[in-house]
Amino acid sequence: MKYIKKRVEPKDFGHWKAKAKTGKNYGYSLLNDPTKGILHDSLMQEQGYICCYCCQRIASKTSHIEHLNPQNPENKSDSNTDLSLDYNNMLASCGSDKHWPKHCGNKKGNQPINISPTQTNCEDFFSYTGNGEMRSPINNNLEQAEAAKKTIEILGLNDYNLQQSRIQALDFLKLQLQGLTPTQISRKAQQIRDLDAQGQYLPFWSAVSYYLKKYYGI
Ligand SMILES: [Zn+2]
Repeated sequence: MKYIKKRVEPKDFGHWKAKAKTGKNYGYSLLNDPTKGILHDSLMQEQGYICCYCCQRIASKTSHIEHLNPQNPENKSDSNTDLSLDYNNMLASCGSDKHWPKHCGNKKGNQPINISPTQTNCEDFFSYTGNGEMRSPINNNLEQAEAAKKTIEILGLNDYNLQQSRIQALDFLKLQLQGLTPTQISRKAQQIRDLDAQGQYLPFWSAVSYYLKKYYGI
């Protein structure tokens, strides 16, 4: 999980809301293209084209608009309609099919999570083992460990395929760092953590960043 700094909502979405609000059918289910597509693009761009939870590469066809706080909670009230259209409650998650893959937004459904990618310190709650598994760092207290465990479980972040992809990302990183001097490694780390020329973050950014911090102190 990588921290996501929310920006302002796209103007087109704001205009759509202002217009739709005057009618009686105001809600996320009534939002369609092109506004929905513009919104989706904005969320992906904001995240550097990686999933808000697992950090795998996403594109329009392989992701969906995710509501951090459920847009359809069991106890529906009028305020929930606004939550479904609140840009700060929206993220882009992997999985375009409602039931596949079985992790991230598609697994979460209406369940709330304890640690959110919009929390500035969210990265501190997770560590990554050599076999691509996500855990809670050993120096975290019981409460933090429990929050991490539950979040990992609800989002299915230790899914077999995700673990394999993390291993591959770390193997590739190790290859890239081979034979480099400490200064070169520092420079490489900075480059790896930054957005690339296409405005994309490296897939599995969090696992890679954790490894750099743990083994190289950078
Ligand atoms: Zn994901």
